[in-house]
Amino acid sequence: MTIASPTDVLRQILEILERERREGCRNRLVLGGLDRYLAVWLPRLARSLPPRAQEDIAEFPFRAYAETPPAERPQWLTEVAAWLRETAQPRAAPPPRPRAARAARAMPPPSDSITLETPISALRGFDRRVIPAFRRLGVETVRDVLLFFPHRHLDRRAVVPIRDLSLGTDATILVTIWELAERVIGPGRQLVEATVSDASGTLRARWFNQPWVARTVRPGSRWLLSGRVESFKGRLELTVDDYEPFDEEGDRTHAGRLVPVYPLTEGIAQRTVRRLVKSVVERYAALLPEPLPAEIRRQARLMDRIPAVRAMHYPETPTELADAKRRLAFDELFILQLGLQRAKAEWQQAGYAEPIIVPPAQIDQWTNRLPFTLTTAQRRALQEILADLARDRPMARLLQGDVGSGKTVVAAIALAAAVTAGGQGALLAPTEILANQHRASLGRLFSLLLPQARVEVLTGAVQGKKRQRLLDDVAAGEVALLVGTHAVIQEQVTFKRLLLGVIDEQHRFGVAQRAALRHKGVSGQRHPHMLVMTATPIPRTLALTLYGDLDLSVLDELPPGRQPIRTRLVPPEKRERAYQFVREQVRLGRQAYVICPLIEESEKIEAKAATAEFDRLRHIFPDLRLGLLHGRMKPKEKDAVMIAFRDGAIDVLVSTAVVEVGIDVPNATVMLIEGAERFGLAQLHQFRGRVGRGQDQSYCLLLTDSAQESERLRIVEQTNDGFALAEEDLRLRGPGEFFGVRQSGLPELKVARLSDAELMDLAREQAERIIATDPGLEAPQHQLLRAEFQRIWIEGTSGDRS
Ligand code: ADP
Ligand code: MG
Repeated sequence: MTIASPTDVLRQILEILERERREGCRNRLVLGGLDRYLAVWLPRLARSLPPRAQEDIAEFPFRAYAETPPAERPQWLTEVAAWLRETAQPRAAPPPRPRAARAARAMPPPSDSITLETPISALRGFDRRVIPAFRRLGVETVRDVLLFFPHRHLDRRAVVPIRDLSLGTDATILVTIWELAERVIGPGRQLVEATVSDASGTLRARWFNQPWVARTVRPGSRWLLSGRVESFKGRLELTVDDYEPFDEEGDRTHAGRLVPVYPLTEGIAQRTVRRLVKSVVERYAALLPEPLPAEIRRQARLMDRIPAVRAMHYPETPTELADAKRRLAFDELFILQLGLQRAKAEWQQAGYAEPIIVPPAQIDQWTNRLPFTLTTAQRRALQEILADLARDRPMARLLQGDVGSGKTVVAAIALAAAVTAGGQGALLAPTEILANQHRASLGRLFSLLLPQARVEVLTGAVQGKKRQRLLDDVAAGEVALLVGTHAVIQEQVTFKRLLLGVIDEQHRFGVAQRAALRHKGVSGQRHPHMLVMTATPIPRTLALTLYGDLDLSVLDELPPGRQPIRTRLVPPEKRERAYQFVREQVRLGRQAYVICPLIEESEKIEAKAATAEFDRLRHIFPDLRLGLLHGRMKPKEKDAVMIAFRDGAIDVLVSTAVVEVGIDVPNATVMLIEGAERFGLAQLHQFRGRVGRGQDQSYCLLLTDSAQESERLRIVEQTNDGFALAEEDLRLRGPGEFFGVRQSGLPELKVARLSDAELMDLAREQAERIIATDPGLEAPQHQLLRAEFQRIWIEGTSGDRS
């Protein structure tokens, strides 16, 4: 091999980069790909460069090009070329820079003009090569770096004498390097081997494919090496993962301590992230404000924020790390609760509501006219609601109850109370078909409770003159109860005297719609009372968070005499039997749902798969009438299919999960779910709630090919309790997966878990205390808190960060 001069090597590399770009970035220019080429030539280039540049090149991500999407390759090439020119251009060596740690210890608050908002491009060490990678990780400013937490730590605290190493373990040693050699062991594969020793013994250490080690690790120097203890020809060896020079003052980054492991992305190495984040934490963590008033820190036994942030990255002990996590998790939950409690306080304190007072005798009379006796849970919820209505503060209450627990009748009585008090009521449903269904069932109930009251429905389908007349009548107060879709909260709709708004199936509506309905009743300072109903059984702690601005009533009991749905797991070999069963039920005059497996890629792909499933089932049931429902259909088409199913013109309704089959078809007795293992337990329970609404015994068949998942699915087989299933789901899958949480519009949690009930309670308690005394966060001791609050709630909920 001829020895090329460094400038020649640099020129050659730059030329290849440029040609690759010109020839369309197909990664075919050099044999074996560009990454392989760079892996060979960059180390050769590095050899002749100063140590700092060598270290930089050492951290070059060697598989990055192949993994870069073609569209981004031209930019990748340009950036790498620019970086190479900067790094490898011969120039006077910069003065040795002081170790960041020492610098930070010596001068705590940085004297330069860096603030938390400063972009990372202004920081030393963050060059063009790493900035795009940090940006992909959501890190753009100094604050982002400080709050860019590792997802775990490696415990490399124990420095083990060589004599005590045992085979197969991960260990850290502190050694002197004696000799070091580099070998090529295959095409593009290098090995650096070193003989190292401590007072207890001697060992061979090996680095694979890190040829630059041979230039940075010099014989005679002391190093901390971390890696796996292996055996070669009967002797122990260390295969090194991480290494760093031994620092007399104990400054450690990669070894000999608790070492952070950060989330990575293409184009950046773990060592680089560690080194850069560490320098920022050491220099600038002190810039972070302490938003929590001292009193709260004391009461909740929380450590201070700056040491907590430092410890999140480089903790001394696991206990310190746990304390840091607790502190920062508290912050997140506390800010979350502050926002929710504030919304609640605003709602309840800004205006007043007209008290709706109904004599108990009237309520008794109404309940006596019902064809059934209210359950204990229904009576309790009703009492809670009536007590709220009687106040001059607007009610903001969530009524939560499993499918079929009888929420409608509770809402109907509350609405009747509003009408009796001389006002109007409104009920919002998520779809047209559900609005019509509610119109029918509330109409029936109202004919028992208040026969003279007018109940009307307003949806997009009500058009022209008819619509105008209806709007006029609502405005004139002639319509007592208006049921409808989003149409109800549109601008043209005005009520004469809206006293109570009810929203059904809350998870389909966001906070904004809730607010819009509230404002429908506002005249001057007056607001309507508000009742939100949901059938999603959300565990209490989670409900208090997601609906922290609402009070909670729960229907935890089903009306008596309901036949429990029989749920069965169906293994692949019994699939035919399941189809046979569907056929038998249809022959008995019943109907069935088939839910297609969940495909998360896109609605389009899912629609395609559902259509394929539909065609397959048409061959299996040539004698039955099948209908298809998926998310790509127009609302009108969906409604037409649902109505045909309701009216018995369809025997088997094939549907994707995106289409919530939210309609009441008492004649449907079979719910067959394909690929059941792909669904959450709570979701399976929701599907199951679509049957068992009539007199006949109903069945839920869970088809699955996965023997592993069967254990989880057995829980659905064994219990009909939606809350128990939701708790189990939360435990197994975490709140991120939990139905509706992601679209909730709440600030993102990085450290805290929604399911941490103890900390959540603590945070809520403290938030309530603050809001009770200083709802606007105006007191001087709350200014930092207020800034933090605004940053997170006002600027941070846009959801465009990963
Ligand atoms: P959901 O809570 O799912 O909205 P619904 O209000 O639709 O439930 O009630 C489901 C069915 O149970 C309806 O047919 C309703 O008439 C009936 N129901 C409600 N309360 C009772 C009760 N206390 N006893 C018997 N049946 C009831
Ligand atoms: Mg309902």
